[in-house]
Amino acid sequence: MTILVTGGSGFIGSAVVRHLVLQQDETVVNVDKMTYAGSLASTEAVKNDERYAFEQVDICDSAAIASIFERYCPSAVIHLAAESHVDRSIDRPADFIQTNVFGTYTLLEATFKHLNFNPNEEFRFVHVSTDEVFGTLGDDGLFSEESPYRPNSPYSASKAAADHLARAWLHTYEVPTIVTNCSNNYGPFQFPEKLVPVIVLNALHGRPLPIYGAGANVRDWLYVDDHAQALVLILRKGRVGETYNIGGKNERSNLSLAQDICSVLDDLLPESPHAPHASLLHFVPDRPGHDLRYAIDAGKVERELGWRPSHTLSSGLRKTVEWYLANTNWCAHILGGEMSTARQGTIRC
Ligand code: NAD
Repeated sequence: MTILVTGGSGFIGSAVVRHLVLQQDETVVNVDKMTYAGSLASTEAVKNDERYAFEQVDICDSAAIASIFERYCPSAVIHLAAESHVDRSIDRPADFIQTNVFGTYTLLEATFKHLNFNPNEEFRFVHVSTDEVFGTLGDDGLFSEESPYRPNSPYSASKAAADHLARAWLHTYEVPTIVTNCSNNYGPFQFPEKLVPVIVLNALHGRPLPIYGAGANVRDWLYVDDHAQALVLILRKGRVGETYNIGGKNERSNLSLAQDICSVLDDLLPESPHAPHASLLHFVPDRPGHDLRYAIDAGKVERELGWRPSHTLSSGLRKTVEWYLANTNWCAHILGGEMSTARQGTIRC
C-alpha cells in the first residue's frame, strides 16, 4: 500500500519512514515543508529506494495537498507534521495554530475529498498526538484514553485542537481516523534543542547543562523506534475511531534523566576533560506553565494490539548518546553551522 507520511523529515516521522520502507516493504510519500526541524539526512537511508518519494510541501497548502492525493492515491495517512517544541510555542504561538490546527484541517479535508472519489474501506488516517494534551498529573496516577483534555501550553492546546478535528471528521464526514497520544520520545535525529540532545551536546563541549527549575518535572520516555513500530501496528490493526496511548513506562525527573545521560557519557568518554559530566549540571529559571508530571498507561495498545517497546531506558539512552557522539556534524549542520542550543520560551513581553 502507499502511505502518505507527513513530517517524514522530522525526528519521529523519519523513524516511521525508515521503518516502513526498510523493514515493512511499504511505499511511502513523505510530505514535509522542511522547516528548521526537517532534515534530509534523516531519510538518507531510503532516498534512492523506488518505494520512497519526497514532496516538499506545506500541509496548509490545500491545492498542493490535493494534487499529492491525486498523483499518489494513498491508502493511508500517518500525520506527524507539526510545530513540536513547547518553548518555541511560548515565543511564537501563531506558527503552532497554523500548522497544527489549520494544517490538520487541510489534510482531513483532502482525505475526505479523496475518499469521495476513491472509496476504500481499508483507508486509515492515523493522527499522531501527544500526552501533553491531558495537561499535568500530580505525584501519582497515569493518563488513560479517558483522561480529560487539559492542555496548558500553546503547543499542547494546538495539538488538542487537532485531535478534536480528527474525531469530528470521523463522526461528521466518516474519515476513518485513529488518534495516538504518546509520551516523550528520544533517539537519533532529534533536533538538538530538545532535552536529551541538549544535555549530550553541551556536556560534550563542556558547556553548562541547563535544568529547568529544580529539575523535578517528570516525563515518561520512549525510544523513537518503539513509537514508530506502535504507529505502524495501529495503522494496520487499530480500530477506527479509537485513541491509543503509547508510553515507555520509563518515568524520570528531568534532573535524573540528565544525570543518567552524564553517566553514559562518563562511561563512553572516560578521558574527557569534562568528566564527571554531572558537574556541568546548572539550574535555570523554569519554563512558564511547566507541567509537573506526565505518565502514560499504555495498557490498551499492549492488550489489544500486542505492542511492547523493545528498548529499556538504559539501552535506548546508550544507543542515543552513541549516535549523537558519532553524528556531531549532523547536529552542527542542522543548527546552521553553530553548536548553539540557546534557550527559548522564557516569557513574552
Ligand atoms: P519535529 O519537530 O522533529 O518534526 C516535525 C516535522 O514536520 C519537520 O520535519 C518539519 O519540517 C515538518 N513540518 C512542520 N510544519 C510543517 C508544515 N506546515 N507542513 C509540512 N511539514 C511540516 O517533530 P517530532 O518530534 O518528530 O514530532 C512529530 C509528531 O509527533 C508531532 O505531531 C508531535 O506533536 C508528535 N509527538 C512528538 C513527541 C516527542 O517527544 N517528540 C511525543 C509525542 C508526540
